[in-house]
Parts: sequence; structure tokens; C-alpha cells
Amino acid sequence: MNDCLFCKMASGAIPVKKVFEDDALFAIEDINPQAPVHILVIPKEHLVNSLDLAPANDELIGRVYRAAAQLARERGVAEDGFRIVNNNNAGAGQSVFHIHFHLLAGRNLGWPPG
Ligand code: C5P
Repeated sequence: MNDCLFCKMASGAIPVKKVFEDDALFAIEDINPQAPVHILVIPKEHLVNSLDLAPANDELIGRVYRAAAQLARERGVAEDGFRIVNNNNAGAGQSVFHIHFHLLAGRNLGWPPG
């Protein structure tokens, strides 16, 4: 999508420091961190949110979760606990309409989330 922020980051049109990248995904530090560790794991394919997922994306979502878990290990927060969050549509807090997954850790994470 031409005017999609995360598509532009994926392609390199908007330069951003990627803390992880493979053929299908990239990850960045969130610009407005809500926890000491706050990383976004972002599929490169333009999907708006979970409502766009098709059977062809099943492997992609497994890769998202494995990448997030590996980042949690690398940041040393895996054992203490971390959260992987995906907001879907504005009522749930989605502000960037390209699917992404928040990895949050490094503080006590309340439940239920706000
Ligand atoms: O779930 P939601 O759509 O609100 O998440 C979007 C996230 O993208 C926000 O946490 C926001 O801080 C982050 N963001 C970013 N860099 C930008 C724009 C948004 O990290 N340039």
C-alpha cells in the first residue's frame, strides 16, 4: 500500500533501525514504548489486521510468535514474563492499519489490559 507507514519501513522507503528481519518479517523498537521492552513484530505483507488473515498466512503467524519469543530471550525477559499483543481496529487501540504484534516486557504487566 502506497501510503502505509509499515509498508514503507518494510521496503526501506522510510529508514528505520530493524532489530530483526527475515524474508517475511521485521521488528522495530516502538517509538512510544509502554514498557522497558516494547518491540513491534511486523509482517512485511500488507494485511490490515487479523481480520485479513487467510489460510495462506498460517505459517506467517507462527513465525511472528517465534520471532517475538526469540526477541524476548535475547532481551533477557523470557523467564520473567512477556506479552504479545495484537490490536484489531480502533476500538481495541489499533492506530496503524498494517498488522503488527507488540512484544511487551520488563515491568509488571497488569491483567486485564486496559
Ligand atoms: O496497536 P497500534 O496500532 O496502536 O500500534 C501502533 C504502534 O506503532 C504504536 O505503539 C506506536 O507507538 C508505534 N509507532 C512506531 N513508529 C511510528 C509510528 C507508530 O513505533 N513511526
